Amino acid sequence: MNKRTFAIIKPDAVRNNYTGLIYDRILKANFTILGAKLIRMTKAQAEGFYAVHRERPFFTELTDFMSSGKCMVLALEKENAVAEWRKTIGATNPAEADAGTIRKDFATSLGENAVHGSDSDENAKLEISFFFSESELIANL
Ligand code: ATP
Ligand code: MG
Repeated sequence: MNKRTFAIIKPDAVRNNYTGLIYDRILKANFTILGAKLIRMTKAQAEGFYAVHRERPFFTELTDFMSSGKCMVLALEKENAVAEWRKTIGATNPAEADAGTIRKDFATSLGENAVHGSDSDENAKLEISFFFSESELIANL
């Protein structure tokens, strides 16, 4: 079983100064942070990262937003990491997210929903390798 997932603190959350608060949620939920970097995605990177959504009507809005400012990309480790992280972040639409989830507490809207989480072990692996080389992932303190 894969113990890793990939997360992004999206540009809305960084702009709203929620990076530290979201980092705190990650640690309180007992994820190990294997890697973290502050980046500014190019439009082309955002299009590549979200390529599965390229036919969707919101693709331009999504990739404009994801390249609109700084974000923090993270490689996280925990038992059952993909499901655990999606439980921690809550539903895609913050209006439907459970109380106490990151999206409920920090998201702005459906489009600007504070964080990303991988949706499968396979995608977690691909997404981590999109932003990190294996040597940048640090397993022990
Ligand atoms: P993410 O992949 O960012 O973790 P998700 O897996 O919960 O989110 P997806 O269906 O993969 O949801 O959609 C990717 C992102 O596209 C969403 O997080 C959201 O920012 C945006 N998005 C999804 N649906 C819409 C929509 N109807 N209108 C605008 N933006 C949308
Ligand atoms: Mg998704």
